[in-house]
Amino acid sequence: MHATALKCNRCGWTGGLDITYTCPRCGYSLEVTYSYDSVDRRRVSKALENGGSVWAYSELLPLKDTDNAISMEEGNTPLIKSRTIGVKAGVRLYLKDETRNPTLSFKDRPNTVGISVAGEMGYRDVAIASTGNGAASLSAYSARGVLSCHVFVPRSTPVGKVAQALYHGSEIIYSDGDYSESFHYALKKCMENNWANITSTYINPYTMEGDKTLAYEIFSQLNFNVPDWIVVPLGAGPMLSGIWKGFNELRLLGFCDRLPRMIGVQAEGCAPIIDAFEKGSNRVSAWEKCDTVAGAIADPLKGYEDDGTRTLNSIRASGGYGVKVSDDLIMDTVKELAVKEAIFAEPASASSVSAVYKLKDKGVIKNNECVVSIITAHGLKDTDELINHLKK
Ligand SMILES: [Zn+2]
Repeated sequence: MHATALKCNRCGWTGGLDITYTCPRCGYSLEVTYSYDSVDRRRVSKALENGGSVWAYSELLPLKDTDNAISMEEGNTPLIKSRTIGVKAGVRLYLKDETRNPTLSFKDRPNTVGISVAGEMGYRDVAIASTGNGAASLSAYSARGVLSCHVFVPRSTPVGKVAQALYHGSEIIYSDGDYSESFHYALKKCMENNWANITSTYINPYTMEGDKTLAYEIFSQLNFNVPDWIVVPLGAGPMLSGIWKGFNELRLLGFCDRLPRMIGVQAEGCAPIIDAFEKGSNRVSAWEKCDTVAGAIADPLKGYEDDGTRTLNSIRASGGYGVKVSDDLIMDTVKELAVKEAIFAEPASASSVSAVYKLKDKGVIKNNECVVSIITAHGLKDTDELINHLKK
């Protein structure tokens, strides 16, 4: 293993590799650092050439012994060239289809790394606060790894996602408020019971390491090319920072000499990060009340606004952009993806394609640029919302 330490993303505090949730000096989130000089570049190159899945990139993941990986062959999802939407929008559009992961969402990436590290450190119980996809995913991985799982979800969570978690044997703990309430309750119970908190905000520094494998796969699938833009739906946004980190590592290791620009997208009804981007602010403020069909990204960030700021910093560091999209545009895109591209995506996922239309119209994305939109999770996860929309 080439991971060396946990480092504060703000003040630079550095500590050992254990499960530490926030910087003891300033309270900000942490990041795994590596000794890149000792990484076996040939092994990374082989994985890039062969199109490997998450653990094929173990040289760049924080697990001491890959035999300890709790895995269901997640990742290695297809990168599909858009047949019609890209032509209509006037860009070279690719859809990274994360619905093909074992539990039908991208959450399998952060969770396989987060739970494997926790298991290797000796934890027997794991927990997650989630809007549903993360809960369903961690539940499956807990079943696979024979660990006990406790999931904290808002009462409004779609029944399909809760059913997945229940059938895998998890304890379900509901909160009456929004996602932030589940987040704080999970944090409290993890501290009280010494459960490993695998919540995929930035609180667990290991989960983002799974997200960054998206960068390696996109680079490999574009025949060792870097796209101009990558569009990511945002809750707190570690996937965006993970992809950004992954491309920076590829450059550091000499595989590429340029970087993509990162686009973050949120729904108009819950857009704390994009609001800060549009105002030119350096700090994200919490959103009071989320109201959107895109439940999977409805994160008001109450009490952990710094996570939003970290994502904002990644967008700005990449020379990227932030955009809000309306529920109407999101639902039109869900339908268009299904009819024209044969991809059945949940509303939050479709927002990454809605954003392409909006930013092309605005002149941010230029003609014929290469754009990758992340399709984060399957439409079957939240059928009530989709059926209701068809009836309108
Ligand atoms: Zn710090």
